[in-house]
Amino acid sequence: MTSVAHQLQQTLTRLEEARTRAGRPPGAVALLAVSKTFPAEAVREAHAAGQCAFGENYVQEALDKIAALADLRAQLQWHLIGPLQSNKTRPVAAAFDWIHTVDRLKIAQRLAEQRPDGLPPLQLCLQVNISGEDSKSGVAPQDVAALACAVAALPADRVRLRGLMSIPEPVEGLAAQREPHRRLHELLAVVNAALAPGGQRLDTLSMGMSADLEAAVLEGATWVRAGTAVFGGRARSPVAGASVAGAATGA
Ligand SMILES: *Cc1c(COP(=O)(O)O)cnc(C)c1O
Repeated sequence: MTSVAHQLQQTLTRLEEARTRAGRPPGAVALLAVSKTFPAEAVREAHAAGQCAFGENYVQEALDKIAALADLRAQLQWHLIGPLQSNKTRPVAAAFDWIHTVDRLKIAQRLAEQRPDGLPPLQLCLQVNISGEDSKSGVAPQDVAALACAVAALPADRVRLRGLMSIPEPVEGLAAQREPHRRLHELLAVVNAALAPGGQRLDTLSMGMSADLEAAVLEGATWVRAGTAVFGGRARSPVAGASVAGAATGA
């Protein structure tokens, strides 16, 4: 077994244990394997071990990887989990299946206009600034319901609003880790109550990473985004160049 296959298995076991502990039904939470900074070959290994959903942060890196894995395209699901600028929406609307980081109406409108004919609707999540940090992107919690109503009104054959995503400030300890995830789950209920009666309901919570996936599963995550746990450590910063992706401290 390759190390990616082994780490993938261990991550899935963590996810299953947390799901059972949370008393949630089988299949209630899925793993999004975050392959940013890792080569297409690592994605191939994870896919060979059974993983189909992959998350990427940087648009150009992702487009190159998706192209390099074109032979597997029908079997893979590509999720953008990094920031999206409005001048990059066109290639993104064509290449991805999900976008987790919509934080303004303009981005969602452009994705709807630019989603090519013949593809299923692009699945969208709104990124919420749940910890209230100035530096983080995402819509403020009090503005989420209004944005959700506007995005939900876009053409349903092009984009479909599925839920909320957040990247809370990292904290230690299960109780503290659960807190922002609990707030995102509560916000999902608020948004669902605000959406037009008889219309669609949001069913997706994209929350939790390698360090806090148990906390996220206990609070209702439906996608957990784990990179380090599956692929190993990444270089801390591309500019610092202190360590090489995959060679740093493993999971
Ligand atoms: C990198 C990243 C992850 C994965 O982080 P790990 O700690 O490596 O699991 C998840 N979500 C987002 C938005 C990321 O940028």
